[in-house]
Amino acid sequence: MRCSGCYTENTEGYCSSCRKKLFDGKKVSNVLLFDTPQADNLIAYQEQTKRLSISGVQLKYSLKLIGKELVLTDRGGEYILKPIPPSMLIALPDQAPENEHLTMQIANQLFKIPVADNALIYFKDGAPAYITRRFDVKPDRTKYLQEDFAQISGSTKKSKGDNYKYEGTYEDIGKLIKSNVAAYMPVMESFFKVVLFNYIFSNGDAHLKNFSLIQTDFGDYTLSKAYDLMCTVLHTSLEGDTALDLYTGDIESEFYQKHGFFGRTNFETLAEKIGLIPLRAKKIIDSLLGKENEVLGMIDGSLLNEETRHKYINAYRDKIKRFDTTAY
Ligand SMILES: [Zn+2]
Repeated sequence: MRCSGCYTENTEGYCSSCRKKLFDGKKVSNVLLFDTPQADNLIAYQEQTKRLSISGVQLKYSLKLIGKELVLTDRGGEYILKPIPPSMLIALPDQAPENEHLTMQIANQLFKIPVADNALIYFKDGAPAYITRRFDVKPDRTKYLQEDFAQISGSTKKSKGDNYKYEGTYEDIGKLIKSNVAAYMPVMESFFKVVLFNYIFSNGDAHLKNFSLIQTDFGDYTLSKAYDLMCTVLHTSLEGDTALDLYTGDIESEFYQKHGFFGRTNFETLAEKIGLIPLRAKKIIDSLLGKENEVLGMIDGSLLNEETRHKYINAYRDKIKRFDTTAY
């Protein structure tokens, strides 16, 4: 048995380290006491899926921990539970919980990206779900102030229409980081790293709401932990490589015009536009392209089924190749 959080071998349920991170050390079971909730709000979210994305079709439930038991709640939620999404809307729906869990674990374990604490958990009927601990809830259960970049940029359904989450560029987010974060440079580097990670791991749904600023205990703002990381191409193959343009004019760049996708040069340009030191940007790019064997090892050892593991690996290899400057 392996830990349902971090994949550590010889563990029943969750290892002590995951228990500490997720449940403050409480011995919580990796099997919930209830069955998969029924999709009773199908119509409500179908209305939001005119642009079909994984985030649009995924049902989310709120949980809180009472003693050692995770229970569904409509207020004071400390955890978000994402079951298998409805099958008529996306491909390979039963693989979605482990896809998100695996991608979040790769980001954190191999690339040291701070991510929302997360694990796989099972309903009483055996169906898997993805569980993540809300990082905006303080130990005393009050909340840290948090705003996503749709809110920060004033992009709403009313102002920008149904696709408001996709109206903007990663460069725009960078500029907003600069104007909202006092010592912005390390935050900007972290942001760039996540944008690049999303590209390499085929997360085509990293829109304005998937990046947030959160208040720290000292009252200033910083980039929140990463969340909603997954290889979305497995579920929505028609989706673009990135949810947002990298910067204005990226499609018109020489590299994109020639190859039809972004390469190293486009990410270097983004880095320059958001004020990163070129040498630091290069280091970040190289670090994310490294660890290929470790990445493949984690995918192979994941709970994805064989077909999905192959697809995940192919998507990853395809992206890595795009950075090989000798090939282009
Ligand atoms: Zn663990």
